[in-house]
Amino acid sequence: MRYVSTRGAAAPKRFTEVLLEGLAPDGGLYLPEATPKADLPAWRRLGYPELALQVLSRFIDDIPELETLVRRAYSARVFAGNEITPLRTLEPGLHLLGLANGPTLAFKDIALQLLGELFEWVLNEKNQTLNVLGATSGDTGSAAEYAMRGKRGIRVFMLSPHKRMTAFQAAQMYSLQDANIHNLAVKGVFDDCQDVVKKVNADAAYKAQHRIGAVNSINWARVAAQVVYYFKAYFAATRTDSDPVSFAVPTGNFGNIYAGHVARSMGLPVRSLILASNENDVLDQFFRTGRYRARKKVKHTTSPSMDISKASNFERYVYGLVDRDAARVRDLWRRLDAEGEFDLSHSPYWPRVAQSGFVSGRSTHADRVETIKMVFEKYGVMIDPHTADGVKVALEHREPGVQLVCLETAAPAKFAPMLVEALGRAPERPAEWRDLERLPQRFELIAPDAEAVKRYIASHS
Ligand SMILES: *Cc1c(COP(=O)(O)O)cnc(C)c1O
Repeated sequence: MRYVSTRGAAAPKRFTEVLLEGLAPDGGLYLPEATPKADLPAWRRLGYPELALQVLSRFIDDIPELETLVRRAYSARVFAGNEITPLRTLEPGLHLLGLANGPTLAFKDIALQLLGELFEWVLNEKNQTLNVLGATSGDTGSAAEYAMRGKRGIRVFMLSPHKRMTAFQAAQMYSLQDANIHNLAVKGVFDDCQDVVKKVNADAAYKAQHRIGAVNSINWARVAAQVVYYFKAYFAATRTDSDPVSFAVPTGNFGNIYAGHVARSMGLPVRSLILASNENDVLDQFFRTGRYRARKKVKHTTSPSMDISKASNFERYVYGLVDRDAARVRDLWRRLDAEGEFDLSHSPYWPRVAQSGFVSGRSTHADRVETIKMVFEKYGVMIDPHTADGVKVALEHREPGVQLVCLETAAPAKFAPMLVEALGRAPERPAEWRDLERLPQRFELIAPDAEAVKRYIASHS
């Protein structure tokens, strides 16, 4: 399998080259040249690691030890049980897909635990080292750090918005004492962090000299890893390989739901991909109107991992929508950069958006509170605010005869203040996190300035 860029100006590459690179040199995102086909009957009975191997080996054909790495990433020990992503039925036809059982209690662990293994293997093979540069609004950063801590040949430089995460999220990252982990607390919002990462990556000479890599959701390996649980959940929710299933996904950078789109393209009978935005509703606006408009200012919300001004993985979806016409993608993104928006509503591509199964909706703070309360009262289950955004929008699109799977993207323990607001009580916290906020913290305060970050990396690598 070879990988091409959405902007069309980069030479096709193999998986192990794409893995370490992040953004393509032409500024685009890598994706596979062709979409592999699923084998539903053969896959239905597989356990998680076996299924993951089947799915991933369709995308990764240049790592002979893939099976070992996959088994190490998806062990019962790391994910609190053999299921890895257990499906919990709330009532007939309505399910919660547990994606938050990994080491940092958010769904990003599923992709990043694998990424840690892949990175270490490839670096060892090439006898190289890598400086992972990333931006996080909370969950990516900790998932990346817990996946990369202590890994040979890897250093992590993680930018996070200073004082914009929950105390739990900040403590989870900042309490890590591993020498290869560097937390850079940026005086700004998540978008400032993301912009700095983009700027550093745009400096090709620096990037090459300092061996800068990425773990953000633009990394194809993360998308591929997330494809697996759509299949797993499908098999858990259905009896036959033709039953329709809809998935509801709390969405920020469009990485998770895009993996669902890939699963659908591989042949999974997905009825709808239900996209839930919070108040930062650029994607909901696009899927309702065809107009994609970057927000000038990100709103700080109580589902912070969905706070974005534009969605980085969205470019991959649009690339597919315009028949992989890279010139058109370049033109649309030029317009987005210059005018802050583009509009497909009068284009021949717009009807295809509905055909691709996407529907969308928006959820606000009041909705989150309401939904957390409703789910607890009706089903006795606590959900986190991101999952609540998903459930709220899911129920607006529920159809009779279609199994509805809501993705649980974080554990409630990670967002205790919201649970207290909604229910008057805090969720149970897993024992290993009990004293988290009291642990000593280690981070560097830094300006939202690419040059300052470059200097820091240069002097710490
Ligand atoms: C990252 C994250 C999201 C958003 O996922 P995307 O892949 O960026 O769309 C939703 N919920 C939680 C808890 C997250 O950590």
